[in-house]
Amino acid sequence: MKKWETCIRRVEPYTPGEQPQGTGIIKLNTNENPYPPAPGVMSLKLNAARYRLYPDPTAGDLVRELAAYHGLSEDQVFVGVGSDDVLAMCFLTFFNSGLPICFPDITYSFYDVWAELFRIPYERKPLNDAFELKAGDYYAENGGVVFPNPNAPTGIAADMGMIRDILEHNRDVIVIIDEAYIDFGGESALPLLEEYENLIVVRTFSKSRSMAGVRIGYAMGSSTLIRALLDVKYSYNSYTMNTPSIALGVESLRDEAYFRETIEKIVTTREWVKKELSALGFTFPDSRANFIFASHPEIPASELYRAAKEKNIYVRYFDKPVIDRYLRITIGTDDEMKAFIHFLKDEITSRS
Ligand code: PMP
Repeated sequence: MKKWETCIRRVEPYTPGEQPQGTGIIKLNTNENPYPPAPGVMSLKLNAARYRLYPDPTAGDLVRELAAYHGLSEDQVFVGVGSDDVLAMCFLTFFNSGLPICFPDITYSFYDVWAELFRIPYERKPLNDAFELKAGDYYAENGGVVFPNPNAPTGIAADMGMIRDILEHNRDVIVIIDEAYIDFGGESALPLLEEYENLIVVRTFSKSRSMAGVRIGYAMGSSTLIRALLDVKYSYNSYTMNTPSIALGVESLRDEAYFRETIEKIVTTREWVKKELSALGFTFPDSRANFIFASHPEIPASELYRAAKEKNIYVRYFDKPVIDRYLRITIGTDDEMKAFIHFLKDEITSRS
């Protein structure tokens, strides 16, 4: 090994879901929304002459719109390049005690990657057999807590009692609740911001607002926490949000009717898919998100994943202990889900 090679940082990166290119693909693998963004986003005329200038480093238009939307003050909102960027900033800003932070053992697989990258010690707390969080695991002294609600990839939502319980036992550290999927079901922790100044709630435009490609995420919390996030951001990159993203994000927030309508369609389809999967013998936790984490008692998930891919249907398969028995199936349009269920029926019949 050359001497300079010893200076290179080695990390095990997060593996995002496949992004196959081409046509005729049914893409149910990365929890994207199958419907287009709001009409106002689609038709917005972007003023390209402005690209000559740096964007507003405060992303003020978007921050103001988000604050008004959620009934918060502007100093309680922090925006970033997708919630991945926002969560990474939160880890960097809030998890510095040297004590291990805690998150579930089955959860969003970026958490341990950031912890490793930022050299934050961490402990994974096992879910119970039904894949639920156990609040008691988060009582002991720790360096902070982070979990998604609903959880990924299970789709299970924690109830308010559990969330309060975790907050009550973690008054001295920052608790981050990642609400990437909350618009599809479950109860938001947002009303608790008034009571817990150590709570951060993170959201994204990638799922319920059909804007994964625009990269908008945001955190909400007390002005003290948001100020700390901004200080870290400005010590790293002042211009994280680009000019078009800021304008497109504002447009999306202005169309509540379209937002509600799209979510309702996805929830209706999700409930239909649950019935069909049950009829085919699959078991799955009762998802409140825009995906279902399902396992077949006889056919290994890895085989179903590969067979689906051959038919140009992409679902997510995690080759990791316990969860390797499951497929994470994003809810697409009715037609896409009908085609997927049709594929499963064929596959099951051909094997029996
Ligand atoms: N949190 C969870 C739980 C997720 O599943 C995802 C999607 N990969 C994200 C955060 C990040 O989404 P984005 O960066 O697109 O906002």
